[in-house]
Amino acid sequence: MKRPRLTLGNLACALSLAAIAAISWLWVRSYATLDEISRSSDGGVIESMVSFRGGVHFARAGNRAAERKWSWDAYAIPPGADWDVLYFSGTLEFRRLGFGWLRGAPFNTTRPFGNTKNWPLVTWLNITPYNAVVVPYWFIAALLAGPWWWRWVLSPVLARLRPRPGTCRRCGYDLRATPERCPECGTVPRRKPVDAASGVVA
Ligand SMILES: [Zn+2]
Repeated sequence: MKRPRLTLGNLACALSLAAIAAISWLWVRSYATLDEISRSSDGGVIESMVSFRGGVHFARAGNRAAERKWSWDAYAIPPGADWDVLYFSGTLEFRRLGFGWLRGAPFNTTRPFGNTKNWPLVTWLNITPYNAVVVPYWFIAALLAGPWWWRWVLSPVLARLRPRPGTCRRCGYDLRATPERCPECGTVPRRKPVDAASGVVA
């Protein structure tokens, strides 16, 4: 069996596969288990990343939390729970294709998802004032697939767009017989040195 060559491109593709496998595992897990890592930093602001139902929620919330280093917690997601169990108050500014943006409303007055029967899953999370953005796992996976996009999509397209020597730069017609002017579209090739050995216009 032929061993694949160890090139930078192959290495990037291998790392990309490993990263996609890891993110896919989190993706599947996010429908049953809420994973939360958070800390509170200066000013009592809680910074959190929450893996929940197909996406990652990044938030900065509150202003009175005691200082605390990064820590991780997991919660079982009750059936029927949606973003309403994460954002008990505030306003939903945007939600499409798994992306989202939410903001805490003053005085905890508005319910972003109406009067649902669900209760906050993590009571201290996303307390007003807060700002939260949601990035779907499909988007993260697509970004991590960067090296594969390059190999399968971008690189072949670029190779196709690059003009081949000895062809018309406008229509691609073979100009070896008529190097002065394209017989197909009339384009006059830019003056370029002629390769003496082959007679091909480079
Ligand atoms: Zn042409």
